[in-house]
Amino acid sequence: MSSPDERRTEASSPPSPETALSGRGPQNRAAEKVLGEGDSPESRQDSCGFDGRSEGIVSAISELMSSAEKPRHWEHRPKTRSRSHIDVILHEPQKPENIGAAARAMANMGLGRLIAVRPRTINKELMEATATIHAKDVLDNLVITQDLREALAPYRLVVGTTARPGSRRGSLQSPRQLAAELMSVDNQEPVVLVFGAERMGLSTADLRLCQKVVSIPTASKGTSSLNLAQAVLIVGYELLLAAGGEPKSRLNILPAQQSSLNLMYDELEDVLTGIGFLPADNSGHWLMNIKKIFNRSFLTKGECDLLMGVCRQIRWAVNNMDCLERGQKGPKREQGRKP
Ligand code: SAH
Repeated sequence: MSSPDERRTEASSPPSPETALSGRGPQNRAAEKVLGEGDSPESRQDSCGFDGRSEGIVSAISELMSSAEKPRHWEHRPKTRSRSHIDVILHEPQKPENIGAAARAMANMGLGRLIAVRPRTINKELMEATATIHAKDVLDNLVITQDLREALAPYRLVVGTTARPGSRRGSLQSPRQLAAELMSVDNQEPVVLVFGAERMGLSTADLRLCQKVVSIPTASKGTSSLNLAQAVLIVGYELLLAAGGEPKSRLNILPAQQSSLNLMYDELEDVLTGIGFLPADNSGHWLMNIKKIFNRSFLTKGECDLLMGVCRQIRWAVNNMDCLERGQKGPKREQGRKP
């Protein structure tokens, strides 16, 4: 923790406000974790008289199970544009716990430096308790200052925040609108987000020092006031999303080739006609209704194999009713394997 003056002593030459307050915030980059693909199906032995093609059932089930176990659709840490040039000022914060929690929100969202202007009390222990280890860097670099105007001086854009829109408070933006605007500008010039005191918020005079004012939409006027750190978190979150921080949904599916699909549909048509579900004279037409269901998803080769296996099991069951009645369930099930 340091005051701007202390920081000046630490650095041998007095930094200009610009260098003191730009481009040096901690950046929170967790290791990129890309989750792997499903394991390849184990090899299996077929000891019963079930036809060899049933191998497909087991391997397809295994493929599906392994893919279900692993959340492979998400790449957790996509590359995002830096937001370390975006600082936060807490103006006259009353509770050290809120300073700590705001620091944590900033660390979570990768914002720059935290500045407390005329904090009522500074209690390191209480701040650290809510900041936790995650925001240690932010707290270690906390700047404490006494004058809002002075604190704002080095910034090229000052954004105020308020829970209380009013006719004298100018036009308001949502955090999303602000984030889109900020992230569309391709520079890293210092920006500051100003948050008011827990009880009173920013005054109209304070807001006049700001070039833009952001208000977080809430369900109703009566519930417009958020906790200070939650407000920091929401604005930071929108900035993160706008900077490309949204997990990228990766459809990690290789759709089956038409040849696999057609093989499966032939099998399905055959077995469903065999058990009387499809009329033999017009099975293709009725099969279309089933195809429509499958066409809504991207069936993989493994899934086609699985469905072929289902068909073969139905065919086996129809031809071996006596075995079924004796409690036999087909060769694969007899080996205790469960789908
Ligand atoms: N009672 C105060 C709210 C103070 S909450 C009031 O009515 O103004 C403390 C700070 O959190 C606010 O000054 C503002 O910076 C931020 N904040 C809380 N709710 C917000 C909202 N809905 N939109 C934008 N900022 C908000």
